[in-house]
Amino acid sequence: MPKRLPPSAISTNIDFNADGIQHGFLKLPYSSDQSAWGAVMIPITVVKNGDGQTALLTGGNHGDEYEGIISLQKLCTKLKPKQIKGRVIIIPMMNHPAVEAGSRVSPIDGGNMNRAFPGHPQGSVTEQIADYFNRVLIPMCDTALDIHSGGKTLDILPYAAAHRLPDKLQELRCWEGARLFGAPYYFYIEEMDQLRSMTQR
Ligand SMILES: [Zn+2]
Repeated sequence: MPKRLPPSAISTNIDFNADGIQHGFLKLPYSSDQSAWGAVMIPITVVKNGDGQTALLTGGNHGDEYEGIISLQKLCTKLKPKQIKGRVIIIPMMNHPAVEAGSRVSPIDGGNMNRAFPGHPQGSVTEQIADYFNRVLIPMCDTALDIHSGGKTLDILPYAAAHRLPDKLQELRCWEGARLFGAPYYFYIEEMDQLRSMTQR
């Protein structure tokens, strides 16, 4: 029998079941030279209006990919409960330490968030964040959109991508989602080590 994982150290001031709009944080204790009892604080906004499906929108998986970070921050200030049915969870800066540093990977542990899944509750800071997404947030959602861009090392065209997945029905739904996103291009993408990415959950 697989060993049961301990609970995540991440806590939140968000009530995921409350209607309305909430701006809060995910708080991961992190003791460092800068703060002995410090924490990594990841902003989160939840908009809910009654029953319905849940969408999870994320940016800042890589800290130098600013387009998703900025667009989701704008959405956090604009989206109103009356505009939706169900729930939208928005996290513009998944890897907040990397976003603060303007770098692809975390300056704390060198962690690449999109190569850290499924993560571990007793792993590095990046692995602990990935674990929280994997075991808490992703199971809550029906749809997940993780926004990436070129960062410092790539120059890419606007596109929406779906991944090849073991669950072919899920793969087809992702393909349909990529088509409906409305970007000029959409396609399947096969990454070299996508098994450790968020999109394989
Ligand atoms: Zn990225």
